[in-house]
Formats: sequence, structure tokens, C-alpha cells
Amino acid sequence: MNTETRMDITFQNFDFDTELRQALTKENFHTPTPVQQLAIPAALAGRDILASAQTGSGKTAAFVLPLLHRLGSIRKRPERGRPRALILAPTRELAGQINEVITTFSRNLRLTAAVVYGGVGKGGQIQALRRGVDIVTATPGRLLDLMGENYLSLDRIETIVLDEADRMLDMGFIPDVKRIIRELPEQRQSLFFSATMPQPVVALAAQLLTDPERIVVESTPETKPDINQHVMFVEKNQKRDALRMILTEYGSYRALVFTRTKYGARNLAKYLGKNGISSDDLHGDKSQNARTRALTAFHRGKIQVLVATDIASRGIDVDDIDHVINYELPHESESYVHRIGRTARAGKAGVALSFCDESEVPHLMTIQKDLRSEIPVSADHPFHAAAVASAAVAAAAPRRQSSPGNKQHRGRSGRNGSANNRPSRFTPSRPERTTDRGRAAGRGRSAGRDQAAGRGETAGRGRFNR
Ligand code: AMP
Repeated sequence: MNTETRMDITFQNFDFDTELRQALTKENFHTPTPVQQLAIPAALAGRDILASAQTGSGKTAAFVLPLLHRLGSIRKRPERGRPRALILAPTRELAGQINEVITTFSRNLRLTAAVVYGGVGKGGQIQALRRGVDIVTATPGRLLDLMGENYLSLDRIETIVLDEADRMLDMGFIPDVKRIIRELPEQRQSLFFSATMPQPVVALAAQLLTDPERIVVESTPETKPDINQHVMFVEKNQKRDALRMILTEYGSYRALVFTRTKYGARNLAKYLGKNGISSDDLHGDKSQNARTRALTAFHRGKIQVLVATDIASRGIDVDDIDHVINYELPHESESYVHRIGRTARAGKAGVALSFCDESEVPHLMTIQKDLRSEIPVSADHPFHAAAVASAAVAAAAPRRQSSPGNKQHRGRSGRNGSANNRPSRFTPSRPERTTDRGRAAGRGRSAGRDQAAGRGETAGRGRFNR
């Protein structure tokens, strides 16, 4: 297993074609990220790869660059409907973004690429395949459709990449992926990327890979994205006002807001629009064209806020998202990780704020337990709900629930209910904004043990700690 990375390596250390080097310089890619340092040499050597790497770690370039180099160095005429490389991605957005990275870096390589996904007409995709194409990036369903209709064959595939395999699992795509794998030639290179490795993903990897190079990019402080995380205890019926306050008073320039339901996303975007905050919604009920429009508007800064369901928690690579706001906490820790990973990308800092009402306290507990860290509480705002904070303390330390100290807080919630509700600005770059009250809520589990483990310090730095 390879986990060692070096600080002194540049892309010039790799044996890339001149055209690829030029494209890297043009795109300001000088120093490879850890996953790139580990994956690129192995892929260039023709090895299979099994890589665990977090979202935002630079894994797209880790597989795209060696792929382009290998295809470019053995030139072949692109064949009609018979690509040489296939990249499978779980969502249309991710497939589109991977294809963009391919296009960016292959400009001078005379390689052709096409993207294939559902939700849009097939015509353009079929035409692209007919013209002849070297690299296809696809979501599994549409790929199988086009294969079934004989527009596409996988018998010439030299390299297959499976990206975000764990997400494929979440979305129920594993049977489709297995069907696709059965169509691949025996002789091939297979690259497998997944943020996490649950058992079915490991089994899928075993089916796809031959003697893979195992790459694990550990989350060291240097590689962890600089995400300043906070939880805000608020009453459910005050979330809208609290959100409006954040979006108008906290200096947010580009915010991604997550809701749990499509209906919720639609309604919230409408509400923000009515209150003079430019926004759009992104979820599975929208047509692909409408989704692309919303993403483009967000990307170009035409709207300040994108309200999305978890469909957007992976794969969206929009620069400079300064705030990710969990309007509703997700039920799974995985989703939390992927949502907050939309900020602090490419070495930048960002803020992840999570609203938590009383009904969401159990989800907060699960997330903190799975992340093995406490999310600092921001209580220094006018919507702080002391009753919810108390519920969190109680949930963290069930035996303390009956103590009179906790009961005192009940009922003093909401905008004017907290003793500590001085209206003030939250300054993301100053993690010490975590208040004593907040710390007390977060510490409920076992103050002594937490101190011994140095938890306060890690959480206080606002680092994403996993
Ligand atoms: P990814 O994890 O592949 O989605 O990449 C996250 C972001 O980091 C993207 O915006 C990439 O363009 C950027 N990026 C990836 N690798 C590098 C690198 N070596 N140098 C500069 N930016 C990079």
C-alpha cells in the first residue's frame, strides 16, 4: 500500500508529453496533490489502482492525466462507437465535470471525448459516438441503453475508471456496473476510486481489479480541507429567518444550502427570491437542462445561493463556495461529509454551518460519533435556541438529562429566549467564536475524556476531522 507523499514533487517529475505539460502549466497545475503523486506513476506504469481519496482531493486529474498520456502516446484513429477509455460516474453533474477536465487537458492531444448521461435527448450523444470517440464518460443507465441499442460497444476499452464507487452503491447502480464490467475486454487497465470502502464496494473492486496498487490518502492536517464547521441550534420555525440573516449579514458571496427534500429546496429558493436573495434550486425533479442552467448561473455568480438536495452533495466543483449551509441535517454522516466537501476546495478555506432543531439532535449525535469529533456550536446569534442546545447536552450524556440545570433552559428558546443571544456577526475565520454555552453543549458526552483526547483543540480549529 502506498501512502507516502512528498512536498518537493512537481508535475515536471512525471513523464508526460509536452502537450500535456503545457496544458498543466496553463491551468496552473504545478504541484500534484497527494492522491495525484501516488496514483499518476502507478497508472502510467499500467497498474490497476484501488484508491480511497476524499472528494476535493484532486482525484479527477489523478486518473485523467495518466489516461490522456497513455492514449496520446499510442495514437489510433477514433472508431465509431468503440471508445478506448470509459469513465463511469454516478451522477450527470459529475460525469459532465469529468468530461470538462478531459476537454481542458486534451486540447492539444487530438483525442476526442464524449459524455453520455440520461435526462437529456440521446441524439447528440449518438452523433458524437458515431463520429468516433476515444474517451466516453458516462452514467451507468444511459450507457447501458446505448449499448443495448448498438450505438456503443466496449470491446476496444483499454482503460476503465470507476469514480465514486461508494456513491454508485448508494444510488443502487452496482448491478448496472457489474453488467458493464462483464462487457469489458479481459486485457485492460482498471482504476477504482471511492471515498469510503464499504463491503459491497470492496467486492466490486475485487471483481474489477487485478493486483491493484492500493492507495490511501490519509486525512492529515495538511490534506484536510480547511472547513470551519459550526452547528447552530435553532427552532424549526425560525430556520428561514436564521438563513436570511446568514445570507445577508455574514458576508456570504456564494452559498450552497442543503435541504432534505426536493419540495423543501423548491420552497426555500422561492422564499429567498421573494426576500431579494438571488437563488435557484437543484434536485432530481428538475429536467437536466434546468439543472444545468441552475448550476451554470451559480458557477458564473449570477445567483448567490443554490438550494439543493443531496443530489448536489457530490460532484459539484464550483470554485469559491464560501458557505455550505445544512438547512436540514442529513440522516447519514456520509452525506454530511460530502455536503461540506463542496466548500474549501482546491486549498481554499470555507465555512460549513448546520442548523439543528430538536428533532435533528439524534442526527447530530450520529454525525459527531462517526466523525469522531464534535462540531463546535455557534450560539452567539439571535436565533440560538437554548432548549435545543439542552436537548443536545441531554442526548450526549443521557444520565444528565434529569438534572435541574438542564431543565432550566427549556422553554427559553428562540429569538429572544436565550440569555446569550446578543446579536452579532459570526466571523468564520475566527473559530474561537465557539461560545462557552456552545462548548458546554458539545462537551456533554464526557468533558474529561474529550479534554484528554484534545478534541476541543481540533474542533476549535474548525478542521474537518475524520
Ligand atoms: P477534484 O477532487 O478532482 O474534484 O478536484 C478539486 C479541485 O482541485 C478542482 O477544482 C481541481 O481543478 C483542483 N485541482 C486538482 N488538482 C490540482 C493541482 N494539482 N493543482 C491545482 N489545482 C488542482
